[in-house]
Amino acid sequence: LFYNTGAGNGFSLCLDCGRVETSHDLLIGHRRLRGGKDDKDDTSCTAKHVHDHIILGSRLKTDFTEIRLKNEDGSFVNDEKLMYSLGVIFSKTLANYLAINENELGFGVKRYSNYRTIFIYDSAKGGAGYASQFAMYTEEILKEAFSVLYNCDCQAACTKCLVDRSTQWHLDKLDRELAYTWIASALKSSIPTDLKELYPNANSFFGNLASEISRLDYHFGIRSINIHINDDLQGWDIDELSWLETIKRNCSEVNLVSNGELRYANTQDKLTTYKIFHKYGLKHNIIKDKALYQAHISLKLNNNEIVSYVSKAAYADLNKDWAFNLEEPFYKVLLSDWMTYPDITLPDLSNTKLFESRYVKIPFHTQSNKLAKLMLENLSNANEFLTKVKGKEFSVSYYDKYNQSEFSERLMLQFIDEFQNLAAISVSSLNVHLESSAFKSYKFPYYIIDNYKEIQDYQHDLNNLSQAYNFKVFVTEERRLPHYRYFEFKTDDLSFNIRIDGGIAHGFKPIDRLLSQDMKF
Ligand SMILES: [Zn+2]
Ligand SMILES: [Zn+2]
Repeated sequence: LFYNTGAGNGFSLCLDCGRVETSHDLLIGHRRLRGGKDDKDDTSCTAKHVHDHIILGSRLKTDFTEIRLKNEDGSFVNDEKLMYSLGVIFSKTLANYLAINENELGFGVKRYSNYRTIFIYDSAKGGAGYASQFAMYTEEILKEAFSVLYNCDCQAACTKCLVDRSTQWHLDKLDRELAYTWIASALKSSIPTDLKELYPNANSFFGNLASEISRLDYHFGIRSINIHINDDLQGWDIDELSWLETIKRNCSEVNLVSNGELRYANTQDKLTTYKIFHKYGLKHNIIKDKALYQAHISLKLNNNEIVSYVSKAAYADLNKDWAFNLEEPFYKVLLSDWMTYPDITLPDLSNTKLFESRYVKIPFHTQSNKLAKLMLENLSNANEFLTKVKGKEFSVSYYDKYNQSEFSERLMLQFIDEFQNLAAISVSSLNVHLESSAFKSYKFPYYIIDNYKEIQDYQHDLNNLSQAYNFKVFVTEERRLPHYRYFEFKTDDLSFNIRIDGGIAHGFKPIDRLLSQDMKF
């Protein structure tokens, strides 16, 4: 069950155009180790609050749907009376539609800084999976809700429409006319005519692509999936694809389809291609004429239905936001034919020598200054490599936009120092490339694993820490760093890169919560 992962799939939706504004990762309570990217005030605060409100969810296992609505002018609905009235009628109508007892669904109105949301949840412990079905039947529910409210004959609310045993205590928040007026305007926003001509069965949907995939998987099961992405490798970021990992766990055939000829700027791009190719399918679609509405994702369900999500949007970069940030409206269409695409032609790496050191797991309690040793011990053809570099002096650069904490700083310095000893080379300098705009932490670090607030703080500590080492250390600010993280070793006649998946500190944390002031060198 997708909501049983402990990272519930809440979603926000706009009934105006059917697209999503943001996804609130509602049950993800804490930040990741290098959480710089997700370190927004808004996100963490939101998660906490919602958490508190799922009163019955002492376990994080209830099923719920969070709904954000838009006014006709495009702003988010913030009217408590409207939201409460809609919450009542939505949950009642959904219960009716699913032929379950009304008390199996609960609802609440949650307040954000400048809008409110309705959340509907399963009141049964463990969650029977009712609430999340709201998004599958939104249109039907809206129509039914409208008809109940519009055809009632009361002033504001009565037992035939909005009043029941629990809402009778909130009569001041019930207004049938306010609610049906909003529903009527939401129902008016329909499918564009140019889309209807192409796909008479086109439908809008509510939520983002990730929540659609989860729902289809939960209710029907997915056999195959084609995910269409662009051909601009430089813009991809393949280290944070948790949405794709989730799909892969549940679906046997996952194809990434690059639209256009992949463009390689350097060896790192080629390596990215190999990694993706071996992890998922990487297919190739040659576009002759750009369709007005392009399929961004197509799914073959276990019941043999083929569902596709189309949009006028350009194909997007493959990254962690792929399935969430829909800037253009997307629509759901049913197709009769399943498209298959050929494998991409893998890039030529014959002029590049690759050595791989692969760890699925690094032993618990590994010392932070043993990373280079671990890497070399596991390196394919280590001797060939070591013979080539031995005795030479290198200048080193490190590119890693997530390298933003004291912990990461320390690992990086230790790694270089240990590596120069083990490989019998000498390192003259370490040039740390940083992206100042990537420093997004909203507070100063407390523990050493916390990110610095500003690049200057990073630099200050780096200057101090680097005193202990025999190579020069300095920082170069970059406007934009690539998505991959790597060390580049250069000498007059030779250069090599060490590419560390995820970056030096990725996946590691100290065994204790260490404070900066407690650290000795
Ligand atoms: Zn929480
Ligand atoms: Zn009434």
